[in-house]
Amino acid sequence: MNELNFSCTPEEAKDDSYLENRIRQELGISPKQKLTYRWRKRSIDARNRHIKVNASFEVWIDEEESPRFESYQFPTIKDAEEIHIIGAGPAGLFAALEAILQGKKPILFERGKDVRNRRRDLAQLAKSSILNPESNYCFGEGGAGTYSDGKLYTRSKKRGDVQKVMQLLVQFGATEDILVDAHPHIGTNKLPQLIVAIREQIIACGGEIHFEHKLTDLEVSKDKIIALEINGSKKIDVNHIILATGHSARDIFYLLHKRNIEVKAKPFALGVRVEHTQAFIDKLQYHGRLNDEFLPPASYSLVTQVDGKGVYSFCMCPGGIIAPCATDQQEVVTNGWSPSKRNNPYSNSGIVVSIDPTDFGHPENPFVCLEFQQSIERASWEAAGKTQKVPAQCLKDFVQQKKSTEFPRSSYQPGITSVEMDDIFPPFILNRLRQAFNDFDKKMPGFITNDAVIHAPESRTSSPILIPRDPETWRHPHVSNLYPCAEGAGYAGGIVSAAIDGMNCISKICEVQK
Ligand SMILES: Cc1cc2nc3c(=O)[nH]c(=O)nc-3n(C[C@H](O)[C@H](O)[C@H](O)COP(=O)(O)OP(=O)(O)OC[C@H]3O[C@@H](n4cnc5c(N)ncnc54)[C@H](O)[C@@H]3O)c2cc1C
Repeated sequence: MNELNFSCTPEEAKDDSYLENRIRQELGISPKQKLTYRWRKRSIDARNRHIKVNASFEVWIDEEESPRFESYQFPTIKDAEEIHIIGAGPAGLFAALEAILQGKKPILFERGKDVRNRRRDLAQLAKSSILNPESNYCFGEGGAGTYSDGKLYTRSKKRGDVQKVMQLLVQFGATEDILVDAHPHIGTNKLPQLIVAIREQIIACGGEIHFEHKLTDLEVSKDKIIALEINGSKKIDVNHIILATGHSARDIFYLLHKRNIEVKAKPFALGVRVEHTQAFIDKLQYHGRLNDEFLPPASYSLVTQVDGKGVYSFCMCPGGIIAPCATDQQEVVTNGWSPSKRNNPYSNSGIVVSIDPTDFGHPENPFVCLEFQQSIERASWEAAGKTQKVPAQCLKDFVQQKKSTEFPRSSYQPGITSVEMDDIFPPFILNRLRQAFNDFDKKMPGFITNDAVIHAPESRTSSPILIPRDPETWRHPHVSNLYPCAEGAGYAGGIVSAAIDGMNCISKICEVQK
């Protein structure tokens, strides 16, 4: 097998006969020789007017193409040692897969419903603003990752085996493009089937997944959790526990605190979600090229510093929709998703300000950041009329401190209410957001426009709480069989890093036993 790298235009990158001729030419392969090739890596370089695709191929000359990777074989583990996993998000599900690969039996408890029943609750939320606190965009099978954009880009390559996560996703139904693209994504329409395939594999091997099973209490004896209380009554004896309940399970943070299991305040970020038209973002990023069938919907990544604090774009969704992501009826929270084709006419992104426990004067209070986050979500709910409608302001009006009277459009289905952001956020957030938007407008001229609408708040960016774990064993320092895991515990941010953290928790449990 040969590896070949070159740059070409976006049109050429989609033209199979061009690619074959170019590969033959570059490697001196005669027309008589059999050529097989496939994409290895693909990225778009749109920094200059002449947009390029950086292409990398695997090439076979007069030989058979080898498979991209060997599929993982999952053994039967019905009678193996049990590991209890709380939460069936990316971390919990990948922990379960890894447990099976390592010969253990995973037993998952998930407070929400399976993906199909969960979808009904999301439809009701969009249509009637009725939020089910146990089944929503954050809670239910697949966790917060199920109805997301499914962006799989991660910077956390040092944390573990990104490739293994990607290969498993392909094994369970994602296209091989996610192994090729520099910024891969799956899309909300494709993620649920994938989650179902993972569930079916876990069950086929003898693992267990229990939906609508919420962890409600812990029985602690000396330095161990000896039993879990599920749904307020059922008692389950346990040995190892992986706690992968995500950043929205506030009741879990309070439960740990009540049971004298240490939790700490952690920095996070909070702000607004801004929506432009996708055509506008394409035009800016692709130097005026519009509706170009050879280019994917453009994205952006922005960052600046204002008064010593980072302000940055978060979870940008090209061709996406703004989603109602609260977990309580009396809160409003936004986030974004997009379908695999990213073919909605909108483009949205969180624009968030870094928040630190020291901002509030009581960093020793473990709930200081969480309480601030919750207060903003409640203020947003009240300001928008105590429904799941979201406070909104046109971007230029926000920068100029004017109330908006007319809105171009919004993808947020429960609807928007005109509210001045000054009624929701404290000055230290408002001033930084305004300055950051001015900086972003210099980098992307025209970014500040009344054709863009900000929706508030974007508040569930990462966990406002850290659940400590020993750097060697990954166990809680004071609870010898508790493994705080992934985003909710403060050790991951995003689907891939959460999945990696779940797998690594299993490896840590197995290491101790060796
Ligand atoms: C709309 C949206 C879009 C997103 N887009 C992207 C994206 O494109 N790319 C990306 O990388 N990330 C994205 N994210 C973030 C990503 O989904 C999370 O980083 C990831 O899901 C975290 O994984 P996790 O397993 O740690 O936690 P979660 O996914 O939050 O899963 C935790 C699970 O635990 C369950 N649980 C909570 N409490 C209990 C309890 N007491 N008992 C039993 N079960 C419990 C919850 O119901 C949930 O299913 C998005 C999130 C949202 C909401």
